[in-house]
Amino acid sequence: MKIHEYQGKEILRQFGVPTPRGKACFSVDEAVLAAQDLGATVWVVKAQIHAGGRGKGGGVKVARSLEEVRLAAEQILGMQLVTHQTGHEGQRVRRLLVEEGAQIAREFYLGMVIDRDAQRVALLASSEGGMEIEEVAMHSPEKIHTLRIDPLAGLRADEAAQVARQIGIPEASVAGTVIVLQGLYRAFVEKEAMLAEINPLVLTADGHVLALDAKFNFDSNALFRHPEIVAFRDLDEEDPAEIEASKFDLSYISLDGDIACLVNGAGLAMATMDIIKLYGGNPANFLDVGGGASREKVTEAFKLMLKNPNLKAILVNIFGGIMKCDVIAEGIVAAVREVHLNVPLVVRLEGTNVELGKMILAESGLPIISASDMAEAAEKVVAAARGN
Ligand code: GDP
Ligand code: MN
Repeated sequence: MKIHEYQGKEILRQFGVPTPRGKACFSVDEAVLAAQDLGATVWVVKAQIHAGGRGKGGGVKVARSLEEVRLAAEQILGMQLVTHQTGHEGQRVRRLLVEEGAQIAREFYLGMVIDRDAQRVALLASSEGGMEIEEVAMHSPEKIHTLRIDPLAGLRADEAAQVARQIGIPEASVAGTVIVLQGLYRAFVEKEAMLAEINPLVLTADGHVLALDAKFNFDSNALFRHPEIVAFRDLDEEDPAEIEASKFDLSYISLDGDIACLVNGAGLAMATMDIIKLYGGNPANFLDVGGGASREKVTEAFKLMLKNPNLKAILVNIFGGIMKCDVIAEGIVAAVREVHLNVPLVVRLEGTNVELGKMILAESGLPIISASDMAEAAEKVVAAARGN
């Protein structure tokens, strides 16, 4: 689960990591008032969306008067912010962060992820802050320093100081950087994050280190232990189809193709997407209805798939193991009768009671295209999506 920058900074402050003073705002007037309350001479107005690259996209503006704060807030609030992480349609800005401006002398990069091979949290640090770390990794990987942290000892002060020196933090600011690194590590572990990033960490003209940006991604499987993180959830930032799917316990992920697929089992769902690709098509979603899909679940799944405006065809690929093919076939027929199906539907059934299942589909009188194996199903659905 992702959160906003201002929420990430709240967490960082709880763990002793210095950040600029700031306030989250939901309207232009509120932004101007917040700037006034901060009592600075330079402010930064920042779009709050769950995507990076806001600076380049015009979502971060420096203001030198309250009038400029108002202008920046007017420009950013409500804009459709396009960054390399939002896709071409962008993300609507509904929240702002107004902060006192920092006197930036240098920018650094800090990140933490879980290194599953090492079974440790890996700290990544670089002198190349403010840029996308992917770019640094590609063009100057030697500038990224990695430390895999011993879970028993935690991040030791001497290790943290060494990392600070490796990325070129001046000696007078090493102690401050150690506080940042240890705070970030404690936040990462205690809040059960999967990713934490401070990009940029800045060194100010007077030698202080500050987290100018904050990004967190939390392990969804650990959220039941962290109601305070769940409270940060912003549904406006999530895909409406995915939220709807989660209500029915369906694993659904929107993709940008035009062939929807309904599959039981995550592995089979991935294999189905692969084979659609192999036959020249593009999957519109990942959808795993699970092992015990009921008629209701299948119906909800159809409704979800049919909401997609790009939809050209649907492929149902079910392996009846625990679930019997005749039960599935009945579910499909009932679901199709309930929803208004306006695209071709290809069904491939295999497993227990497959003959009975196929008979139910055939006798339903519905225009269902039947397939016996995955290759045939993929070939037929790709052709159907092309109108052949
Ligand atoms: P991102 O583009 O979504 O990663 O947003 P960031 O929070 O990283 O901001 C992008 C850039 O805006 C930073 O790298 C800084 O160069 C600049 N910026 C952010 N805050 C300040 C500030 O207080 N003062 C100045 N001068 N620049 C800032
Ligand atoms: Mn950033």
